[in-house]
Amino acid sequence: RRNPATAKFATAAEALHTVFGYDSFRGEQAEIIDQLIGGGDAVVLMPTGGGKSLCYQIPSLVRAGTGIVVSPLIALMQDQVDALTAVGVRAAFLNSSQDNETRDQVERDYIAGNLDLLYVAPERLSSEATKRFLDRGEIALFAIDEAHCVSQWGHDFRPDYLALSELADRWPDVPRIALTATATDATHQEITSRLQLGEAKHFVASFDRPNIQYRIVNKAEPRKQLLSFIKTEHPDDAGIVYALSRKSVEATAEFLQASGLNALPYHAGLDARVRARNQARFLREDGIIIVATIAFGMGIDKPDVRFVAHIDLPKSVEGYYQETGRAGRDGLPSTGWLTYGLQDVVQQRRMIDESPGDLAHRRKLSAHLDAMLALCETVDCRRVNLLRYFGQQSEPCGNCDTCITPPAAWDGTIPAQKLLSTIVRLLRERNQRFGAGHLVDILRGKVTPRVTQHGHDQLSTWSIGADLSDQQWRGVVRQLLAQGLLATHGEYGVLAVTDAAAEVLAGNRAVQLRHEPERAERAERGAR
Ligand code: ADP
Ligand code: ZN
Repeated sequence: RRNPATAKFATAAEALHTVFGYDSFRGEQAEIIDQLIGGGDAVVLMPTGGGKSLCYQIPSLVRAGTGIVVSPLIALMQDQVDALTAVGVRAAFLNSSQDNETRDQVERDYIAGNLDLLYVAPERLSSEATKRFLDRGEIALFAIDEAHCVSQWGHDFRPDYLALSELADRWPDVPRIALTATATDATHQEITSRLQLGEAKHFVASFDRPNIQYRIVNKAEPRKQLLSFIKTEHPDDAGIVYALSRKSVEATAEFLQASGLNALPYHAGLDARVRARNQARFLREDGIIIVATIAFGMGIDKPDVRFVAHIDLPKSVEGYYQETGRAGRDGLPSTGWLTYGLQDVVQQRRMIDESPGDLAHRRKLSAHLDAMLALCETVDCRRVNLLRYFGQQSEPCGNCDTCITPPAAWDGTIPAQKLLSTIVRLLRERNQRFGAGHLVDILRGKVTPRVTQHGHDQLSTWSIGADLSDQQWRGVVRQLLAQGLLATHGEYGVLAVTDAAAEVLAGNRAVQLRHEPERAERAERGAR
């Protein structure tokens, strides 16, 4: 029974039933909650939809004092607090969007012990004023949400998170819980060490999302491919389409609208009111498709998103996993669909080359991209690949594209040698570098103005690749990039051979390539 004097619950089970109306705990929730109620620390790795929120909300309702929730999702604090208030939890937030009066009231409530949960933005906790303020009330626990943001090698590093290591020094007796839905082994270790969670108990749930079907297709005409995917498989469903740029978001939303779909754009450049309205419609109405940059979706809790489509290559496997993870929180069959092509690789390499930051930073971005490419080009189960990236072993799922239609592999050693040696010769003999388009023209023996201008029809490798189509050659280039035998540089995406390519050129290493389906080839011809 809730004790009116302290407004707390005697047990976790009671809070679960009374406040949230659920019968039982899921997965490891009960153990995690017990660990915190008992005053211990916890590190929780659990996929989206696994039920992380209860893991800190319930201990905050049982332990004396206020649970302090650190969350980077300022835009969602209001929604989270509203949802809790609606079920009788005394919750509030502190962030920069508030006026002074509201903030003063929240602070008074906290100091008076009238709050079960208080959400704060991470940057607040680095200020001494905030810490002194927290000392004036009683802290039940600290919950650090999206804890992977503390990892400098992760895909979503936020410097403000580093200051959270001080929580342990300042409040050694307050239990802390770090939670994330995406963490490689390395990130898991970084969370543990940076947040001083050496004494914590670790709860690592399976990252598998069995109801999500993963599919990755060759990019030819992305918008048409997307439209046909939606119309044939998810005609009236809610979904999210991710694109890299604001321009592409708007063009894609318009294209889908013109094709009779209920699509709305979302990106940081839109007016805040338009953005809020589109997000609200997506959450409340049925069958809305939101076309967005990755600015959209963190913390969005819409259970019946039936598909997540990417029309541009995500920058990392973590990002891909997190974004596709927004599909199917209700456990029903859903699709994670991605289209990608050579141009994505060239573009992203260029962005990495041009990105601010030091060499270590660019190396990190590069490693993230390589892992993403390996996932795209794998001939094995996508899910096995994805879970292995997060350090988890699994069996082929039978439900992803590569399981359903195993891609035929072919021996691409000879085409690889032809391409690599063309690049090497051009550099050695003429000190020239070119992008994929011109190299393929040389290999296929096309007489273009550029070929004539440079006399490239005199090269010994001119026209030695006429047996493969343009599309097939682009596939070879893309896969050699993914396998680390080629690298692209600079604004024009010029190709260079890597050290690893020497073995192929010497005939000491075979190159296995994925067979590319014909269908995409026709579409690409039409597009050009
Ligand atoms: P996460 O933060 O891990 O993505 P949430 O905490 O948002 O997940 O929970 C996902 C959904 O599952 C929510 O709708 C939540 O109410 C529900 N849920 C969580 N725990 C339970 C439970 N023990 N029983 C029933 N539903 C639960
Ligand atoms: Zn599979």
